[in-house]
Amino acid sequence: MTNLVDVKNLKKNYSSKEAVKNISFSIKENEILGLLGPNGSGKTTTIGMLLGLLKPTSGEIKIDNMFFEKNRIEILSKINFISPYIELPKKLTVKQNLIVYGKLYNIQNLQDRIEYLTEKLRLEDLLNRITGELSSGQKNRASLAKALINKPKVLFLDEPTASLDPEIGDFVRSFLENYKQENKISILLASHNMSEVSRLCKSVLMMKNGIIVDAGTPEFLIDKHGRKNLEEVFLKLSRGNNESN
Ligand code: ADP
Ligand code: MG
Repeated sequence: MTNLVDVKNLKKNYSSKEAVKNISFSIKENEILGLLGPNGSGKTTTIGMLLGLLKPTSGEIKIDNMFFEKNRIEILSKINFISPYIELPKKLTVKQNLIVYGKLYNIQNLQDRIEYLTEKLRLEDLLNRITGELSSGQKNRASLAKALINKPKVLFLDEPTASLDPEIGDFVRSFLENYKQENKISILLASHNMSEVSRLCKSVLMMKNGIIVDAGTPEFLIDKHGRKNLEEVFLKLSRGNNESN
């Protein structure tokens, strides 16, 4: 199957801090890859480089067989993201935001795209509300609509359900599962929610201190580390007991 994302020997230093130290992985078409790791392990830095926001110190990123150095604009048209650090402009209504982003991406038939996302993400009552006045669950659905406005082939989600109640979290997870299945897109999902990762991700990367300390399917990792669930594997790895057998 085709890889939509290929990362080789990627490194990022912030002055003397080595935030990401030589990581390699790929994401296949129609795959949700989970990115787990304790705070400070380098997940957001990795996503920042994959979005073209941070320049890697060294290493290679290929997205849909293209490199940022040569095909920046084309790559940016094929990806999108949700990040806790970048909010939608607060003073615009949800609809105005979707129109602005749709125009930035030069989306044809923007009205149809907004209607489709409105229906799928249950945004009918939110479209004319001021974005800054929405609850976090409502904002999250609006951010997801923005993230899908350009029909991205690759979606980067940095803790997308972190502040959601269980019901909305469940709605968002079901939505992502169905959307991925229908559109065959690739998703990188950084999350601290282990049941979310177990449910959505066929494979998982475990990061710690800028390194991928383990990787595989949730079942493989649970079995390998002799634990009952992914949460226990996470705790074992993040507490530093990294022996692999
Ligand atoms: P995570 O998303 O896994 O919590 P981050 O990628 O945000 O991890 O951070 C990785 C490491 O890099 C941390 O030690 C963090 O303090 C450091 N770091 C992140 N951003 C910066 C920055 N802009 N300048 C300096 N250090 C940073
Ligand atoms: Mg982070």
